[in-house]
Amino acid sequence: MDIKQVAVIGAGTMGNGIAHVFAQYGYNVVLVDIKDEYLERALQTISKNMDRQIKKGTLTEDEKKAALARILPTTNMEQVKDVDFVVEAVIENKDLKKDIFKKLDELTRPEVILASNTSSISITELGAVTKRPDKVAGMHFMNPVPVMKLVEVVKGQLTSNETINVILDLSKKLGKDPALVNDYPGFVANRILMPMINEAIYALMEGVADRDNIDKVMKLGANHPMGPLALADLIGLDVVLFILEVMHRDLGDPKYRPAPLLRRMVAAGLLGRKSGKGFYDYTK
Ligand code: NAD
Repeated sequence: MDIKQVAVIGAGTMGNGIAHVFAQYGYNVVLVDIKDEYLERALQTISKNMDRQIKKGTLTEDEKKAALARILPTTNMEQVKDVDFVVEAVIENKDLKKDIFKKLDELTRPEVILASNTSSISITELGAVTKRPDKVAGMHFMNPVPVMKLVEVVKGQLTSNETINVILDLSKKLGKDPALVNDYPGFVANRILMPMINEAIYALMEGVADRDNIDKVMKLGANHPMGPLALADLIGLDVVLFILEVMHRDLGDPKYRPAPLLRRMVAAGLLGRKSGKGFYDYTK
């Protein structure tokens, strides 16, 4: 099928980035969220991020204008009925995602592929609530989406090779470099990344070093572009906690237990960049 029009469900950190990239590469995008203010915020973020690309010389003013015009923001999920491809990017909550996949299965044409940007939830379980499990797969973009090259393409138990090939091809058309992985909690990226971030939070909690020194060790010692605590702030501490909880429960191994300090910060609303404060302060 020729993919021209896509839907992105959820206009948060990831959803706005995914909509940005699809629109930039010429796809019409129906961007769905539950409140107009979230959609407005997403469009402002996309506009700001495109301005950055213009400054860098990778996008022109005209291309920005054309891309923004391709995005249709809406709170009405029914608008997905004519799209050719869907990426779901709502919060990392299994019940909510299952509800959304059931709705998408009813609302879209039966041949449409339903992809999830989930970081850790089973693609097989999401496929199982639909009548098209062969057309359900993971399309896991990295944050920030317009910048990061990788897409983890996740094959569920019943995902067809045809579906996987469409997503691999589509990822390349968006300027990305996809990696094919199988459906296990956390896939590859978060299976390795989250225990590192969690361990950094334990190290902070136990006073092994302060924030700046923990991040410095990993930046200078392991050549990471940012330290694990700064990265947690970028991802969102609530998202980090959700992912660790899923991995802890579904892999059944205590090594994935979330650090109590992470739980306390999420409870206090210290979610990182998106709330203004996390391990670092972004309000100044
Ligand atoms: P977020 O909290 O920033 O955004 C989620 C958005 O979904 C919110 O705007 C929310 O209003 C919206 N939403 C909630 N219920 C909805 C519904 N019923 N219909 C439509 N929209 C709804 O979260 P995020 O960080 O963008 O994460 C989204 C997904 O991407 C999660 O599955 C997460 O695991 C995954 N992910 C996140 C990152 C990251 O770095 N943040 C990286 C890769 C993957």
